[in-house]
Amino acid sequence: MHEVGIMEQLLAIATEHAHKEGASCIHTIKARVGDLSGVVPEALAFAFDVTAKGTIAEAASFEIERVPAQCYCTTCQQLFQPSTWIHECPHCHEMSHDIRQGKELELISLEIS
Ligand SMILES: [Zn+2]
Repeated sequence: MHEVGIMEQLLAIATEHAHKEGASCIHTIKARVGDLSGVVPEALAFAFDVTAKGTIAEAASFEIERVPAQCYCTTCQQLFQPSTWIHECPHCHEMSHDIRQGKELELISLEIS
């Protein structure tokens, strides 16, 4: 489960930020996870429970904002949401290589004190 490694990195960033601000506790961590990021939100939430133990984020609530995949079709000149990993335009059935969103994997907010 590679989510543990990813969570460790996210927590390291969050902890560093908290220390910089002189905070001693993290209350809320919000992360944005795209459908194409390769991360399973449920697995990431589980990884949080495991990796936050014994850190200043132990009591924090971990929230995930999911970002659906979105591709751009150059033929139809419009955005579409691919239904599978194959990014086929539902209108003209061309393959799109222009992924506009869905690969996000980032911290978006922290509540600290
Ligand atoms: Zn199209």
